[in-house]
Amino acid sequence: TGRFSKPTLSRSETTFDDVAGQKQAKKEVAELVEFLREPERFQRVGAQVPRGVLLVGPPGTGKTLLARALAGEANVPFFSTSASEFIEVFVGVGAGRVRAMFEAARKAAPAVIFIDELDSIGRTRGTGLGGGHDEREQTLNQILAELDGFSGREAVVVLAATNRPDVLDPALLRPGRFDRHVTLNLPDRAARRAILDIHARNIPLADTSGLDDVAAGTPGFSGADLKNLLNESAIMAARRRADVVTSADLEEARDKIILGTVRTLAIQP
Ligand code: ATP
Repeated sequence: TGRFSKPTLSRSETTFDDVAGQKQAKKEVAELVEFLREPERFQRVGAQVPRGVLLVGPPGTGKTLLARALAGEANVPFFSTSASEFIEVFVGVGAGRVRAMFEAARKAAPAVIFIDELDSIGRTRGTGLGGGHDEREQTLNQILAELDGFSGREAVVVLAATNRPDVLDPALLRPGRFDRHVTLNLPDRAARRAILDIHARNIPLADTSGLDDVAAGTPGFSGADLKNLLNESAIMAARRRADVVTSADLEEARDKIILGTVRTLAIQP
């Protein structure tokens, strides 16, 4: 997950091969690649392609990664931001940023826009102290206006990520807005193994069967957790001045992450 103070524009090198598991989610997002590659083909026959896609799933399951892979596969610019970054002290600033990002994407079309943590801004309106006129609400209204403002001809796909679809303002989910939902799940054992393979590409392992044990022993881990585990184990090997990561390193890293989680959970109310 990237956290940027301003929307960032980049070319994405990420492809669907970088996303392990999540077969169904990949399939649904892949349908948009063709449209972004050759929008004219769809526009010519008046085909309406879904414009807003909500990526729903627990933290670290690859929502950002999948959005980036869409842009990479289609070879189009990737505009990304976190919705929490839109919320500013000064009323109107967030809405202005939304407007600027959509305008830039329209100019660069075909393009992908990614809004992370949509729930930080997209919670049901009218619950704030600002009597419905606060900064967050204005920003949300601007996102709705931008989504409605697409003429159907512009090849801009807007993806937004959330792990709390239940708190989203229903206005965001109406037809023509984020009306298509793609779910990402925590990986099962086979998917965990595949994720470990991807992130162990540059890590020399003493014995590759170590990854089977890790995959078996990490139910509940997200892709981000697994990546973190591998990195922790590599750091431990480096501290020992070793050339390879051993199964003991992997196990220790796993325990560290589990204990870390337990501790974090313990101090939360
Ligand atoms: P958040 O809800 O915290 O924003 P997210 O769902 O957007 O999380 P990412 O930021 O995409 O998750 O995942 C974090 C990192 O974990 C990714 O950069 C990637 O390296 C790794 N990762 C997560 N899921 C996968 C996966 N399915 N395959 C490969 N790597 C993954």
